[in-house]
Amino acid sequence: MNIEDILAGKPVEGLPTGHFVNGRLIPSNGGEMMESFDPGRGVAFAEFSNGTASDVDEAVESARAAFQTTWRKTPAAERAQILNKAAQLIRANAEQLAIVESLDCGKPLNEAQGDVRGAARAFEYYAGACDKLQGDTFPLPDGYLGYSTYEPVGVTAHIIPWNFPISTTARSLAPALAAGCTVVAKPAEQTPFTALLLAQLLSEAGLPQGVCNVITGTGANVGAPLVAHPDVDQVTFTGSVVTGQNVMRSAADNVTRVVLELGGKSPVVVLKDCNYERALDGVLGAIFENAGQVCSAGSRLVIERAIHDRFVEDLCSRTKAMSIGHGLRDPQFGPVNSPLQLEKISGFVDRARERGADILTGGAVTTDPETGQGWFYEPTIVGDCARDDELVQEEIFGPVLTVQIADDVEHALSLANDSKYGLVAGIYTQDVSNALSMARDIDAGQIFINEYFAGGIEVPFGGNKLSGFGREKGLEGVKSYCKIKSVAARID
Ligand code: ADP
Repeated sequence: MNIEDILAGKPVEGLPTGHFVNGRLIPSNGGEMMESFDPGRGVAFAEFSNGTASDVDEAVESARAAFQTTWRKTPAAERAQILNKAAQLIRANAEQLAIVESLDCGKPLNEAQGDVRGAARAFEYYAGACDKLQGDTFPLPDGYLGYSTYEPVGVTAHIIPWNFPISTTARSLAPALAAGCTVVAKPAEQTPFTALLLAQLLSEAGLPQGVCNVITGTGANVGAPLVAHPDVDQVTFTGSVVTGQNVMRSAADNVTRVVLELGGKSPVVVLKDCNYERALDGVLGAIFENAGQVCSAGSRLVIERAIHDRFVEDLCSRTKAMSIGHGLRDPQFGPVNSPLQLEKISGFVDRARERGADILTGGAVTTDPETGQGWFYEPTIVGDCARDDELVQEEIFGPVLTVQIADDVEHALSLANDSKYGLVAGIYTQDVSNALSMARDIDAGQIFINEYFAGGIEVPFGGNKLSGFGREKGLEGVKSYCKIKSVAARID
């Protein structure tokens, strides 16, 4: 794939069309196609299938058959070999995967490359977990034996969002496959391609047919019937709170297990004794990676008054200096994913402006300076926000950072916790007591100390409060796809 050709509007070669079911690409039963857009130019670049409920039925049937006849009986060490091979193939195809991801999402190429490396790591990590899923023994009285085993949950559905398509697909599929589950994945309709490419690579790595299926299309056409399917045993959903609530309601009918990774409004607490440069880098990356379209974005800066003026001034000048452009030109800052997203973001900022907000930098829709095209929103910082302001309380899912000023550590903690979300939080301080006591007292699923987004696939990830429940990544992630069976036997 040649980036210059793609930017010149030439057709993108090698993109799969159709669904991936039972080990091969097949056309959709309904025959309806949708367009996928390049956010950096705001034009369609390829078509894919908008699936139907009958496509979902076929995929679930194929996953069920593969579960019963093949995958759950495949020795753990063999599963591990296949997942390891998949990791190798992802690495071997990293360039193509990153280009497609950047094009489909809009994100800068180096971020997409990082996501692809992360996807390979997820398969490698969970390859190592396949043969370590061991149960317990229980101290029953003489004459009894008690033990437990881990069994795969069965057929699992994976609903994937558009902001991190390949990394969310990988972090969700790899542990499910490691546990012995079979999968039906539904990528977001904005970004369907890397999930299909991944399914093809898994097949090439030796995954038996039917173990991994991908159906593309809208939430209404494909997501809803998949989640409501009576033969799906578990749903892992990553997306918005409202859709997550719908998924949970619909899963309730069949008492289907759910893991929900929803929104966030995560604080980055910067105390006066922080490592200044590190905090500055951290705060910028926390909000402007993927143009702020990150569920765990650090979208609220909570900063101690003593360093506020200088820090915010430096933050604004660094923000203004960021290069903006098409993702494939690898700028520091790319477009947002869709016009709908652009409208949501500008709605938030425009309403704040009407309320008299202090917009320190950014605050407007823009385009790629090189072409005048694309769906861009300027990186934006809004100064000294009240704790109950809409900008502080609601997830914007865009490049908008709010600033809240704290008088001291206790005040910072109270501002950090004043949210209906509880996904992650960042803390910048060189005082170990402050760092660790805040890590203890902030209500969030994951805390980053002195490096926002520190850690990788090894570290469990998931939210509290409206951010959802269940944990992905880490060994917790693979346990999500297991059922514990306890056995108690009388043996005398
Ligand atoms: P956004 O509003 O940002 O597009 P969503 O949470 O609606 O985020 O989308 C996340 C994923 O959920 C996408 O793959 C989308 O197609 C899917 N989805 C949307 N509605 C439903 C639904 N009712 N049931 C299952 N999946 C859905």
